[in-house]
Amino acid sequence: MVFAHDTETALQAAATLVNSEDDDGDTLTSVADLDEFFERFEYTGRRDRDRAELDAVRALRPALRTLLTSERDQAVEIVNEMLAAARAVPRLVRHDRFDWHLHAVDADAPLATRIVVETAMAMIDVIRADELSRLALCSDDDCNGVVVDLSRNRSRRFCSTSCGNRNAVAAYRARQASGG
Ligand SMILES: [Zn+2]
Ligand SMILES: [Zn+2]
Repeated sequence: MVFAHDTETALQAAATLVNSEDDDGDTLTSVADLDEFFERFEYTGRRDRDRAELDAVRALRPALRTLLTSERDQAVEIVNEMLAAARAVPRLVRHDRFDWHLHAVDADAPLATRIVVETAMAMIDVIRADELSRLALCSDDDCNGVVVDLSRNRSRRFCSTSCGNRNAVAAYRARQASGG
């Protein structure tokens, strides 16, 4: 584990959210899609399950993309702004099956607010550890996906298995074509 569990989960959730919107379409278009995201990343707390909540979460994507792909000093400014705007007050909490971890806004704050704050809190760890190289754009030439590399040997280059597979096939074909 590179970062604390809640930090890693928040980073992966943010990248997944950002990557739900790309040139090939949008995979976060319904309340059911948001349900899946909520469950996959083990969110707890308030859910409205309405269009307004969905739209608010969808609207976060450009700002989260900017944050996850910023240089370190710019990321600091964004994090500080996000935490101030949400009036974040960090505290340790233990609930459900989760041991002590950080929350910085109430569990009944809107989901979009909690996602922003959790991402900003996670970025605090990334910035302090000077590990922004863990965040990158997908190595696929045609993909703008965000990659969160939490592997020990920093080996992750693609945002998804489909990007990884496509490039493995392309590399194989290139080797065949060159007779090597
Ligand atoms: Zn929690
Ligand atoms: Zn990709």
